[in-house]
Amino acid sequence: MMVMKALAILALSWLVGSELPASAPLPVLKRSDVVFMYQTERQTYADYGATVLAWGGKPTPQSLTEAKGLKFFGSVGMVTEFSRYHERFPQTYEQGLCRDVQGQPYKVPWLTDHQHKGVPFWWCCTRQPLFRQYLSERVAETVLAGADGVHIDDHLGTAGGISQGGCFCDKCVGEFGPYLKTLPQAERARLGIDDPANYNYCEAVRSWLAEKPGRKTQQHPLWSHWRLYQFQGAARFIEELRTLAARTAGRPVPMGANACLLWGPHLSDYRSLDLFSAEIPHHAETRRFSDDPLVAYRLADAVGRPLASTASGGDWAFIKEQNFAGLVQGWIALGYAAGHGLMAPNRQWCYTPQKGTHWYEGPKEKFAPLYQFVRRNASLFDDYQNYADLTVAFSQRTFDRNAGKVISLCDRLAAANISYRLALGGNELVDHPLAASDVRQASRLLVIEPKDFLPADQQVLATAKPAQRFESVDQALANVEPAVRVEPTGSLRVLPRVKPGSAVIHLVNWGYDATRDSVSPISHVRLKLNLPALGIAGATQAKLFAPGIEPVSLPIQEATVTVPRLSLWAILELRGR
Ligand SMILES: [Zn+2]
Repeated sequence: MMVMKALAILALSWLVGSELPASAPLPVLKRSDVVFMYQTERQTYADYGATVLAWGGKPTPQSLTEAKGLKFFGSVGMVTEFSRYHERFPQTYEQGLCRDVQGQPYKVPWLTDHQHKGVPFWWCCTRQPLFRQYLSERVAETVLAGADGVHIDDHLGTAGGISQGGCFCDKCVGEFGPYLKTLPQAERARLGIDDPANYNYCEAVRSWLAEKPGRKTQQHPLWSHWRLYQFQGAARFIEELRTLAARTAGRPVPMGANACLLWGPHLSDYRSLDLFSAEIPHHAETRRFSDDPLVAYRLADAVGRPLASTASGGDWAFIKEQNFAGLVQGWIALGYAAGHGLMAPNRQWCYTPQKGTHWYEGPKEKFAPLYQFVRRNASLFDDYQNYADLTVAFSQRTFDRNAGKVISLCDRLAAANISYRLALGGNELVDHPLAASDVRQASRLLVIEPKDFLPADQQVLATAKPAQRFESVDQALANVEPAVRVEPTGSLRVLPRVKPGSAVIHLVNWGYDATRDSVSPISHVRLKLNLPALGIAGATQAKLFAPGIEPVSLPIQEATVTVPRLSLWAILELRGR
């Protein structure tokens, strides 16, 4: 019954499929929100102060009652739901499978330990009508069952497996012709394609591989076009699902996705997303706090979407094995200090190739107080924006080619407590024209690989009139004086945030000691403040907030404030005269 109704709506939605979703995201998260990943019982939500459920199942009357008062996102998985897909189409499911260059189906690499009725978890193709029907029905039934929003796991679908070469199914190969047709004549000539409509990429790759042993699919001359074609197809499908969800519900339906932002192609469909609720590597295995997640939070800022993060399956496996709850506490503090948040680690998916899928039950007594601290002090979080000492501009082309380079230079800025914002220029993969406002507000600007920017973005960059312009991160490190300077008393991160007439300065103790699974408190943290830059000229007092203590007032003398003791995380609130 439900399926029939969904199908009717589905048919209707295709008719209006040309309606584009609004590119402005729906306002789905507040910075003080506490986001849960998976469903749990009412008491646990309450213990953490949960306000949002990001990866819920298809709502049931019971799960909606348990989550009453929470914004409920129901999750639809593009690679994790094989058993459900098989149940839906037990006779014909093979039509929807991805195919490698030899025509064989391939497994989802991180679900190789999964089977359904003796059938392995095959990767299914988001270009195949049967699998698209399955996913469309799932989106429709999720909103019809009462979800406020939809979360898409493995949102890149077929393109998510591009590193394996595929998919070379009949649909993927067949629809590549129309893509090739859109290429300029000169480019087609260069690639030796005279009949794009009948071009068979699968056959072309197969014979090209056979010509010379040792060749890899990714080295084929058409590979960059094939890759782009696959990601563009994935982005269009997300757009269609978003339109379908809105049509089905008769209202705009916010959409989230597990967009692993530190891997460049994951931004390819950001325009159809309202939030990222995503796995971000936290490098637990280094037994230290990592600055990498901050890059993900700043990328989310750059495209104007909130990021409710979680760590990777490998991170959680390591945390479980070593029992490093203290490391997770730092991740929580960093997330909120960055203006986003780590989803409450109540029950986390762990993965290693040896152990496969297993689960980590987080110790509530260590995590919930941090989330409750946020809920009690929501006004210290909502409405504040990152204060940037420096704007770092780079093109998606640079990030796509060498994300590690961008991440490591951002990490050096973070380690020097230079607060940065990212200005992202687009490319063929990520439709994000550099905004004039991005570069005009930059008083200090570092441009990475300027040649990579699209011509329109280069023009925007040319209009920038920063007081200081840097060619390299070394130059920026040597010359930028941050608005909040910290005297070297220990390892910490300083993240200032501002709104008109007020600033909050987050201090996160970075001195994690794995032998104690904790940080060593730092005494007498002296901060030299540029009050006018922070928009709080004339401030004479700061109020110190930290989990587990009562707020205290601290004097500001000669633009300097001293925090007597920093445990894991503290926030200074300052107001201008
Ligand atoms: Zn395919």
